[in-house]
Amino acid sequence: MQTISQLVPLRSAVDALKVDGPLALVPTMGALHDGHLTLVREARKHAAHVAVSIFVNPRQFGPNEDLDAYPRQLARDSALLQAEGVSLLWAPTAEAMYPAGYATNISVDGVSAGLCGAARPGHFDGVATVVCKLFNQVRPDCALFGEKDWQQLAVIRRMARDLDLTAPHVDGIIGVPTVREADGLAMSSRNAYLDPAQRAQAACLPRAMQAAIAAMRGGADYAAALAALRGELLAGGFHTVDYAEVRGADSIALQAGPGAEAGRLFVAARIGSTRLIDNLPV
Ligand code: AMP
Repeated sequence: MQTISQLVPLRSAVDALKVDGPLALVPTMGALHDGHLTLVREARKHAAHVAVSIFVNPRQFGPNEDLDAYPRQLARDSALLQAEGVSLLWAPTAEAMYPAGYATNISVDGVSAGLCGAARPGHFDGVATVVCKLFNQVRPDCALFGEKDWQQLAVIRRMARDLDLTAPHVDGIIGVPTVREADGLAMSSRNAYLDPAQRAQAACLPRAMQAAIAAMRGGADYAAALAALRGELLAGGFHTVDYAEVRGADSIALQAGPGAEAGRLFVAARIGSTRLIDNLPV
């Protein structure tokens, strides 16, 4: 596995890998867990070589968010990726990604509105901008993203269509189902912030979501099921609920009840200062 942090050597490394066939990209912010490694394993099915990027992107963090605290463990991550047969680790410096004078922003309307787009202003602009840059840098044939960040996946799919980031560079944006811990909690680099008591309480998030979905499938009023869900989270140890909403899986438009478009339940809630998100089909 080659580890590269500057653009010039990246270009020749990518050219050499692409001689062997399709190249898949798995963008990450590092602090890798089994969710990330599942994306890598899936990527290997789609391509001759897999490239993984690790970049803690400052543009997707708000002023009061956890940019400085975000876990950084490149040596450990690198060993994990090597063991998975990854060919290229692209770990750009902040200077290589955003050189002095950098001034371009990509903003995706519609699917960015609501949920994390409302709770974290500017977050999806930061995500879209860095992912577009990663596509242009690595020029992959396909790229894999987790359904754990469903709205992010919707934003990237929209951007890829709108900016013609499809073949020959990226002709597949591939979504991978959420990987969960034994108690149902979605794996996340941010789970490391939880102390043991908080970690135990966090399992009430997927449990309460499943219960709300069962109620809605059984004909319960969505508003009532979502209110009960909020109550369960607050009783279960969460301090605040940023949102608990059903939205269209593709449009990300709010759904007050069953409709033509498949619905998905989206929740963001905080235990202490740790913000956890999850989503499941209704
Ligand atoms: P992050 O490092 O958190 O930016 O995540 C990098 C990629 O891994 C994103 O596409 C995430 O959606 C995906 N990912 C993170 N956690 C999980 C998980 N538990 N299951 C599946 N994919 C995940």
